[in-house]
Amino acid sequence: MIKMKNIKDYNLEELKKEMQEIGEKPFRAEQIFKWLYQEKVKSFDEMTNLSLELRKKLEEKYNICNFKIIKKQESKDGTIKYLFDVLDGNAIETVLMSYHHGYSICISSQIGCKMGCKFCASTGINFARNLTSGEIVEQLLAVEQDTGVRISNIVFMGIGEPLDNYENVVNSIRIINNPKGLNIGARHISISTSGLVPKIYKLSEENIPCTLSISLHATNNKKRSEMMPVNNTYPIEELIQACKDYIAKTNRRISFEYALAKDNNDNLEDAKELVKLLKGMLCHVNLIPINKIEKGKFDKSSNENIMKFRDYLNDHGIVATIRRELGSDIDAACGQLRRKNLKE
Ligand code: SF4
Repeated sequence: MIKMKNIKDYNLEELKKEMQEIGEKPFRAEQIFKWLYQEKVKSFDEMTNLSLELRKKLEEKYNICNFKIIKKQESKDGTIKYLFDVLDGNAIETVLMSYHHGYSICISSQIGCKMGCKFCASTGINFARNLTSGEIVEQLLAVEQDTGVRISNIVFMGIGEPLDNYENVVNSIRIINNPKGLNIGARHISISTSGLVPKIYKLSEENIPCTLSISLHATNNKKRSEMMPVNNTYPIEELIQACKDYIAKTNRRISFEYALAKDNNDNLEDAKELVKLLKGMLCHVNLIPINKIEKGKFDKSSNENIMKFRDYLNDHGIVATIRRELGSDIDAACGQLRRKNLKE
């Protein structure tokens, strides 16, 4: 990793303090923010309303992390998957999706993942490290710079467990969210978690009205622990209680992700258990046809089963939709992203 501080790691308040520490007025931070996130420049040299002396000073103290694109794959459906060199010998993947309401980006929060979900490719290679706030934000900037599109929605569903990198993820949202930064409203940001209960409580205390997405995938502890080892630490009862408390505290609807695997969690008994579990909660269920990964033990559920499952939930008072599959032909769909070690 580059040793100098990455200027994109600071939120606006932090950058104002930094400026004061190097003997500059705090408003310089706003100017720098504007250059980085609105003009999307890649060097201090391009910040032309700063004096040459200040630009030189910034160059000596900070670096601007600009990822390199190693590979770019485009799906038949228009989804684009990027492999980014994060400049320390590692590479991560980021996905740009196009919807009728605009562009959405699926970003990674860690290089690898410790959670070990059995249906996910992201966890197959050893965990390397957390991404910094600036590296999280850089994924969005690099994609916008490359495509020229304006991204309106962000999902933290790429490589990594976002709440396992809590401080950097929350800080990146403060940068993304700031009207002087990328100015994307928190309501257009979703954070997905495998169910780190203490962090769900912590998030409920932040004043960030983003959408919390829970990767549930099963309705009892036996099945869930088989799919997601994190369930051994935070079993379903604790997770659901944390979700109820989150909703009570924030008055925000939770989205439950449920990946349907053939003959595993996709029959009507599972749908019944799911109704029982979520009854009365302010929530939505996103059904995901599981994507088969190399060496993965789960197969995709049939379309017929998926629709029956959805209809059962909707008929019993739980709002459920089937997520449109995007990018599966380029391994860019849910659970298919992986980190890479460029030195291997
Ligand atoms: S599903 Fe998410 S939490 Fe689970 S292993 Fe994959 S990246 Fe990690």
